[in-house]
Amino acid sequence: GFKCRKLNAVTKGCSDYVSSPYSLRVFQWNILSQALGQMNDHFVKCPDEALEWNSRKFRIIEEIVEYCPDIICLQEVDHFNFLKYILGTQGYTGVFYPKPDSPCVYISGNNGPDGCAIFYRTNKFDVINIESRILEIWRVQSNQVALLANLRIKETGQEVCVTTTHLKARQGAFLSTLRNEQGKDLLQFVSQHCGPRPVVICGDFNAEPIEPIYSTILSDEYLNLGSAYADCDSSSANSAAREPPYTTWKIRDEGEVCHTIDYIFYKKGCLEVEAVLELPTGEEIGEDRVPSFSYPSDHFSLVCDFKIGQKATL
Ligand code: NDP
Ligand code: CA
Repeated sequence: GFKCRKLNAVTKGCSDYVSSPYSLRVFQWNILSQALGQMNDHFVKCPDEALEWNSRKFRIIEEIVEYCPDIICLQEVDHFNFLKYILGTQGYTGVFYPKPDSPCVYISGNNGPDGCAIFYRTNKFDVINIESRILEIWRVQSNQVALLANLRIKETGQEVCVTTTHLKARQGAFLSTLRNEQGKDLLQFVSQHCGPRPVVICGDFNAEPIEPIYSTILSDEYLNLGSAYADCDSSSANSAAREPPYTTWKIRDEGEVCHTIDYIFYKKGCLEVEAVLELPTGEEIGEDRVPSFSYPSDHFSLVCDFKIGQKATL
C-alpha cells in the first residue's frame, strides 16, 4: 500500500524540503573527477569550456546544495578540500578516502588522487565513527574503496549507517565478476560496522542491473537491502526492471553510452522510500548528452527521501 511521491524539477530547491529527525534525504553523485574528465574521458560532444574547473566547480556545488540533502555521497572526488570548504559554509561536514592508486595522479596538472566522500548536515548529526576499506577481490586488495559513516541524529538519538563506494569500471564478463567480488567484500564491510542501524549504501557500482552484483546486493540475508529507485516504481515484480533507464549518458570516441550503474540501496524495514528525484529526460539532457554546461558530470545525481522507521541504536 505504500506509494512513492516522485520529485521533479519543480520541487528543486529547498523550500519544499524541511529536514526532520524522522526523515533522511540522501544525495548520490559521481561528480566526474576534474583530472579524468578533462584529460582522460574524451567526451567528444562536450565543449572544453564546460570542463574548466573555475566554472565547473560552482555548477557542481549548485547541483548538490539545491536539493538540501542531509547526506551527500560523492565519487571521483579529486578536489575534496574545495568541497569541504564550500560545503562547510553551507552547513556540512565531510570525510574523504582516496583510491590507493588513483589514475588521476598520473595525469599532468592533477590535484591528487580521486576517491569517495561523505558529507553530512552538521546541525543534524553527530558522528559516531568513520570506517574505510580498500575493497578486496579474492582476499587481495583492489584499487577501489568504500567509506562508511555511522551517524547519530542529534534530536532523537536515532543512528544511521551510510556507506559509499565506486567500483571497478569497464565492461566485460571478467570485470563483472570482479565487481561482484568487490560487492561481496562491501557487504561484509558494511555488516561488520553497521550493527542494527538503518543502512544506506550508495555509489557508482559501474554495473547494470543485469550484472551479478545487483542480485548479490539485493539477496544479502543479513542486510535485507532494496534499491530505492526501483522500490519507488511498482510497474514490475522484478527490481532490475524498475530501475531508471539511465544514470549516465555520454558520447565518447567509441560511441554513445547510456545505462544505469548508480544506485541508492537501503535496509528494508528500517527505512521507507518516500520519494526519489526523477532523472532528466532525453530532451532536457540534449543531444550532445553529458557532461555539458547544464550538467557538470557524465553521471546524474540521485536523490532519495527516506522515512526512518522504529528507533535502532546499539
Ligand atoms: P577503473 O577501471 O576503475 O577506471 C578508472 C576511472 O576511469 C574511473 O573513474 C572510470 O570512470 C574512468 N573510465 C571508465 N571508462 C573510461 C573510458 N572509456 N575512458 C576514460 N575513462 C574511463 O580504474 P582503476 O582505478 O582500477 O585503475 C586502473 C586504471 O587506472 C587503468 O586503466 C590505468 O589507465 C589507470 N592507471 C594508470 C597508471 C599509470 O599511468 N601508470 C597507474 C594506475 C592506474 P567511471 O567509473 O565513471 O566509468
Ligand atoms: Ca568517470
